Amino acid sequence: MSVKVHNWQINRKMDYKYPESRPEKQAAWIFDTNKCIACQTCSIACKNAWTSGKGQEYMWWNNVESKPWGFYPLGWDVRILEKLGSQEWKGDKYIGKTIFEQAPYGEEILGFIPEEDDWLAPNIGEDEVSAEVKHKDYIKIPHQPWMFYLQRICNHCTYPACLAACPRKAIYKRKEDGIVLIDQKRCRGYQECVRACPYKKSMFRPYTEKSEKCVACYPGVEEGFQTQCVINCIGKIRLFGFKSRYDTPREDNPVDYLIHFKKIALPLYPQFGLEPNVYYIPPINVPEEFNRQLFGPGAKRAVELYRKAREDKRLIGLLMLFGSTDKIVRSFKVEGDVDEGAAFGYDKDGNEVVKVPLKEPVIIREEYDQNLDVHRLSVT
Ligand code: SF4
Ligand code: SF4
Repeated sequence: MSVKVHNWQINRKMDYKYPESRPEKQAAWIFDTNKCIACQTCSIACKNAWTSGKGQEYMWWNNVESKPWGFYPLGWDVRILEKLGSQEWKGDKYIGKTIFEQAPYGEEILGFIPEEDDWLAPNIGEDEVSAEVKHKDYIKIPHQPWMFYLQRICNHCTYPACLAACPRKAIYKRKEDGIVLIDQKRCRGYQECVRACPYKKSMFRPYTEKSEKCVACYPGVEEGFQTQCVINCIGKIRLFGFKSRYDTPREDNPVDYLIHFKKIALPLYPQFGLEPNVYYIPPINVPEEFNRQLFGPGAKRAVELYRKAREDKRLIGLLMLFGSTDKIVRSFKVEGDVDEGAAFGYDKDGNEVVKVPLKEPVIIREEYDQNLDVHRLSVT
């Protein structure tokens, strides 16, 4: 049995097991794929925090894979995309089927369970480019051949497939922040969530015989802190915040602004139908069709906007706020012009928690320092 719910990312109603029930505010992440250096500090930060125990060895709740050839687990997206079949958009409306609507006869969700070996090479395909590089080839702009880094965590979906699939009702979505959790006492390890999640972010722990997944660092989030993968990101590519409902976004809320006003941050595989809450600024050096398949029909416009970001001081100000504080920024403002202005972030009580310049100062030091009587090799 299913009911009709509204999914704003595919711009239509769709089938889901439970009625629409949106949290007061939704935990949401934005990742700027263009700035990631694949250092995997986020993956290690998450592992140290949550998955260093017995039976968790293979688990990477946060992973960063190189596209087009990287997958964790092996082939996670191409396998479900193939099963889903044709995925057609008409303008910004998805007219193909979601994984709930394409379920085989007698089942509720289209899915599959990866083999054990599929989890064992989390960094397969790292840095491999799309096509063979021939002798004497050089990189052209836009990049040809191409690759980019895709950062992945559980999406704390508005319509979680893991939750809908659980026969024990062990998975729940918190009313206060939309974080999706597995109740370890109720879970019996049937792995229906592993089968159903198209992002393959619910994982089975053989040692306890229960399933586990990203918990969105909820103890920290409850105290006003961003998640570990965000705080530790070397490339400052990540932002965590609370998204408003799709029909009442706030222009001074950083995540609302990028998702709903600028529409520069897009969901991953919106056609699956889960309304995921991790959003991506698409890579700018990737063929348009590939971006469209991953991020939907808004990808081309988002790339154009990103290329011109410096012309928009509010946008550049917000991008500069990424990775600049460990606190959750609930509202922001930008003052001054692009060369001398600053962006400010505020917590839920309106206290200023961060201020960053719109243009990072560049300081060039003399090669010879008279005071210290030293020569410098690195002068910038
Ligand atoms: S990404 Fe997968 S595990 Fe996470 S909430 Fe969505 S369906 Fe569940
Ligand atoms: S820490 Fe940041 S820059 Fe490094 S791999 Fe993770 S997302 Fe990319």
